[in-house]
Amino acid sequence: MANPIPARNVWEETAVPAPPLAPLVNDGVAEVLVVGGGYLGLTAALHLAEAGTDAILLDAEAPGWGASGRNGGQIIPGLKYDPGELEAMFGPEVGARIGRFAGATADAVFGLVERHGLACEARRTAWVQALHAEAALERARRRADDWQRRGAPVELLDRAGVAAIAGTDIYRGAFVDRRAGALQPLSYARELARVALAHGARLHAGQRVTALERQGLGWTATTAQGRRIRAQRVIVATNAYSDRLVPGLAPSVVAANSLQIATAPIPPALRPTLLPGGEVLSDTRRIIRYWRLDGEGRLLLGGRGPYREPGPEADWAHIVRDLRKLFPALAGIPVTHRWGGRVAIHPDYMPRLHRPEPGLTVAIGCQGRGIGLQTAMGIELARLDRDPRAEPILPVTPIRPIPFHAFKALGVTATITLYRALDRLGIG
Ligand SMILES: Cc1cc2nc3c(=O)[nH]c(=O)nc-3n(C[C@H](O)[C@H](O)[C@H](O)COP(=O)(O)OP(=O)(O)OC[C@H]3O[C@@H](n4cnc5c(N)ncnc54)[C@H](O)[C@@H]3O)c2cc1C
Repeated sequence: MANPIPARNVWEETAVPAPPLAPLVNDGVAEVLVVGGGYLGLTAALHLAEAGTDAILLDAEAPGWGASGRNGGQIIPGLKYDPGELEAMFGPEVGARIGRFAGATADAVFGLVERHGLACEARRTAWVQALHAEAALERARRRADDWQRRGAPVELLDRAGVAAIAGTDIYRGAFVDRRAGALQPLSYARELARVALAHGARLHAGQRVTALERQGLGWTATTAQGRRIRAQRVIVATNAYSDRLVPGLAPSVVAANSLQIATAPIPPALRPTLLPGGEVLSDTRRIIRYWRLDGEGRLLLGGRGPYREPGPEADWAHIVRDLRKLFPALAGIPVTHRWGGRVAIHPDYMPRLHRPEPGLTVAIGCQGRGIGLQTAMGIELARLDRDPRAEPILPVTPIRPIPFHAFKALGVTATITLYRALDRLGIG
């Protein structure tokens, strides 16, 4: 019998230390209150502070505690939809604007890393999207063509080309995007916190905001500890970890679990074709799998989890099975870590910008690509705060709870089971 796999997040063991945060001992006043300290809230706070705005950020746990400290560290530009599709969906002007924004999200990350010297192991390598079926190949051809016409450094690989990178020969080809890359996700969050503090933003951990009340022209936030913060404007950046703070927000997304495992470091001789250039990879199956190596040569492999909070090791069993099946040469390498987090997904896979009341802005729905997207959205939220008349990149929409959310939540597991079956039959 295999040894038990400890429930621990590999990033917590290799991240730079968290910057020390002062406790919030008194009530306070700020121009802008940011609720949530993931990439979205931290980038917004940093850019607000850089613009001279007095910003305070409160996180219920700590900066990087949410998905930002648990993810795969794959910096992937773009949305689910290609630029041409976005233009068809939103019209030529708005669609083109969203397409340009989406295409530049990885640049936003690398730009911040360079400008502030963030110590987060960021490397611009490539994202390899491994194609599992004929339909995926067709779609990748259109995607490559669409992005190439816009000057993006993307290309297609054939079966041999992807086998030389993916470490397995099961894929029919790949879409490769050289705008992409990898980083240490928790270090990135902590480094964003460090520079936001250095620029004058006030950050506090362990402060769950439990109420937001509009008072006159501003807002008063109350935390679980009874602290009160008055602010002219509020940005809510709680994404898949949204609670009841903003009515209807949590049920407006499916907060799906994504689970990961990490192996012990793999000797280089055992991984000649496993992401030799530091590439990151995900595949096109409907229940996607994704993998990469970390700075110490561990293989990190991820996939979906149950909708309920994952707990027993059995919840990760399908990912361990995938590992053993995909990479038989690594049979002797133990799995040493398992962890997971939540990803906010909208039924149409598009992120949302809401302004439910004057002075209250919410961005939500990373659709699983939040390193780039939430970084770029944080910059966008700070831009909109500076210039309230500026046209937002995303259309502003009302918060719409997914109907029969509870049933939908149960349905997620059923859908995953169905997709897994389709994939096994090669028709997914
Ligand atoms: C396992 C996994 C793998 C992933 N892999 C990738 C990947 O490889 N590439 C990629 O681009 N994306 C990936 N993602 C998605 C990415 O991690 C997220 O999109 C991104 O981190 C979201 O950032 P955020 O700031 O919006 O939210 P989060 O980082 O989730 O932060 C939200 C914060 O809000 C706080 N909060 C919630 N409610 C309150 C409240 N009432 N008061 C105060 N604070 C509150 C929480 O404590 C939390 O810290 C992955 C996600 C997961 C879970």
